[in-house]
Amino acid sequence: MVDNIDELENQVKNCNKCDLCNNRINTVFGEGNLNADIMFIGEGPGADEDKEGKPFVGKAGKLMDQAFIGLGIKRENVYIANIVKCRPPNNRTPLKNEADSCLDYLRNQVVLIKPKIIVLLGNTALKNILGDTYSITSSRGKWIKMKEIKYMPTFHPAALLRDESKKIDFWNDLKQVKKEAEEKGYLI
Ligand code: URA
Ligand code: SF4
Repeated sequence: MVDNIDELENQVKNCNKCDLCNNRINTVFGEGNLNADIMFIGEGPGADEDKEGKPFVGKAGKLMDQAFIGLGIKRENVYIANIVKCRPPNNRTPLKNEADSCLDYLRNQVVLIKPKIIVLLGNTALKNILGDTYSITSSRGKWIKMKEIKYMPTFHPAALLRDESKKIDFWNDLKQVKKEAEEKGYLI
């Protein structure tokens, strides 16, 4: 654990703890407000993110941006990160050893940013953060409180691109997040 976010980002830039380091163009550390009350956690960089070194800048990111606008949440007020910081080949799900190698960085980000709410986008985020017994199908839309943090599991935006019918649930889950943040006076 380090107590400086720039130092942590630098560690990630130079990381070769797993094989995903071999094919990356850029690491994707995460970005956003260091005082954010809400943190979003995705799976890992896709092609666009790998090119730009920033999270959620491709198609799924555009969908997130639309959701932020619709909800009245400023993207620059939240923090966005992923389970793995390097792109898995062909956007496959990160392997267990890859996620395990990378998770300490995300834990350190959470310790430094201290979000009150963490939105878990999809099964990879949910299972790696809260455990393998959880699944999006049964857990989405329900708050899970653990160690002073409220977690909201919901669909990964890429899932909405494959199946439009999931959009309503995604929207309702994020509306719960907005409502909680408003009630508590969180940064949105
Ligand atoms: N999908 C993710 O899980 N993360 C990104 O940063 C982009 C797409
Ligand atoms: Fe390191 Fe994470 Fe990249 Fe693997 S995915 S090389 S653990 S930064």
